[in-house]
Amino acid sequence: MVAQVIDGKAFAAKVRAQVADQVAKLKEENGITPGLAVVLVGEDPASQVYVRSKGKMTVEVGMNSYEHKLDADTSEEDLLALIEKLNNDPAVNGILVQLPLPKHLNEDLVINSIDPAKDVDGFHISNVGLLGTGQKSMVPCTPLGCLMMLRDHHGSLSGMDAVVIGRSNIVGKPMAQLLLGDSCTVTIAHSRTKDLPDVVRRADIVVAAVGRPEMVPGDWIKEGATVIDVGINRIERDGKNKLVGDVDYASAAERAGAITPVPGGVGPMTIACLLANTLTAACRANGLPEPEGLTA
Ligand code: NAD
Repeated sequence: MVAQVIDGKAFAAKVRAQVADQVAKLKEENGITPGLAVVLVGEDPASQVYVRSKGKMTVEVGMNSYEHKLDADTSEEDLLALIEKLNNDPAVNGILVQLPLPKHLNEDLVINSIDPAKDVDGFHISNVGLLGTGQKSMVPCTPLGCLMMLRDHHGSLSGMDAVVIGRSNIVGKPMAQLLLGDSCTVTIAHSRTKDLPDVVRRADIVVAAVGRPEMVPGDWIKEGATVIDVGINRIERDGKNKLVGDVDYASAAERAGAITPVPGGVGPMTIACLLANTLTAACRANGLPEPEGLTA
């Protein structure tokens, strides 16, 4: 079997176009322009690139983008004061604090100081609890993007066996909750899982979120399974820098029914879902119906 390629780049462009349409409607019919505030502390080069591209895409879909760049030695007090200001600013519907934060700042404290209704990353403990109990929440962007691609490919996921490799708060755990919410039978595998190949071989859906280059070989994949590769790993091959996923794409594509490539799979969906979440937050804040197909 040769797998169908799930084109995350094209899918993300479609999601952004949907967001842009709805934003235009919100402006015209309700006089509302959603706003996303991104807070960057320090000068981590990768974070700077992410923040720039988030700002650019926010503006492209017609929303307001507010960037707050703070020095690496900013005190916790000053950062919390800025978040409080953004929490109280009606022009700001979404607040994202770019992680990782410099070591002297308490990440949990900072994230949990964001108004949960504006927590477009979905990392606030209230949103984690709401998602875990099947209530309306803000859903973390990367797992939301994976869910959208799975729903688009399969329609219903009900009754499917899903294995999520990785148990991080950002990807693995919320991904498992979302799959459970769509009535999959879910296994969360991690670094201590016994006989990982055997666990993965049972899966109709494999979501790999580990951060180890090409650790899942094709012979772990059940014939016809859908493979969502969240991993982004920079490696050197044949003297060149290359991005690869957690799945060995070439061998997995020979067995899977469908697979996301790296790059061009899950990656582009993450920012698209951040924009979708900001739109959702703006609709909720104004008592308007949520955008269809853009929430969990
Ligand atoms: P993390 O380091 O927080 O978690 C990794 C998880 O993998 C852990 O729960 C650990 O138990 C598990 N693990 C480690 N070694 C293992 C092994 N040998 N076998 C099975 N499980 C093992 O990472 P994360 O933040 O969840 O990110 C995972 C990957 O996804 C990284 O490559 C990251 O760059 C990528 N990522 C991509 C996006 C995107 O937008 N596409 C977003 C977030 C993360």
